[in-house]
Amino acid sequence: MIYQLNNVGLSYKDGGNTINALSDINLELPETGLIGVIGPSGSGKTSLLYVMSGIKVPTSGQILYRGVPLPHQTSLRNQLRRREMGFVFQFHFLISYLTVAQNIMVGFDGSGVDINYMNYLIEELRISHIRNKKPYQLSGGQRQRVAIARALANRPKVIFVDEPTSSLDHVTGRKIISLLREAAKNALVILVTHDYENVRAADKIVKIWDGKVILDLDQNQAPYFEGSQSEKNPKTVFHL
Ligand code: ADP
Ligand code: MG
Repeated sequence: MIYQLNNVGLSYKDGGNTINALSDINLELPETGLIGVIGPSGSGKTSLLYVMSGIKVPTSGQILYRGVPLPHQTSLRNQLRRREMGFVFQFHFLISYLTVAQNIMVGFDGSGVDINYMNYLIEELRISHIRNKKPYQLSGGQRQRVAIARALANRPKVIFVDEPTSSLDHVTGRKIISLLREAAKNALVILVTHDYENVRAADKIVKIWDGKVILDLDQNQAPYFEGSQSEKNPKTVFHL
């Protein structure tokens, strides 16, 4: 197990109100594989990625990463994230004054960079022709593809992807899922998605509802995932 979450909670203070974005989350996740996280808008999916990646600190409970609690100190968490994790944010967050190529390389520290892999991603994601453009010159879908190349480029151990196919056409969406599947052979990929096609590609599904895990299913437990049943009746998957 690379991750162990024990009774993890996260609450936000909003004016006088406390919003419990996550409560009592218990999860164990393996070193590799594609995990699909589903649930309605506002259910806590993004919050879950934020606490797991150390962007936010849980208000209760504990997160073990490789058997060790995530560091309390922000700079240490940032260091760990830069070294071992990739993050595709729902709203991209590309750096506006850098070109596409510079944005993709922003996480590189000069050691052991695999330029061939980076070029492969750029080709596969069809962003080669926009290498020298700035984010404001790109469409939403192009920005999304650049954000994905950036998150994958230095071969992180954990890759968080927050609703990547929302601004993409079907063909590109499928390409991205196949890149994520490929990365999931050697990394843990945690994919937040609304898309039933993506869920079928997952090794495990975690369903979030009102900040709680209400379903935690492995591929081998699920007639819902793949094959004839869901093929004939896609609704099965939506009702997971
Ligand atoms: P999802 O990604 O599933 O749409 P989020 O994790 O973004 O859900 O949000 C979970 C809950 O926390 C929602 O009720 C949302 O309104 C609330 N929330 C998220 N971010 C903040 C914040 N910065 N301040 C206050 N409330 C927030
Ligand atoms: Mg979200």
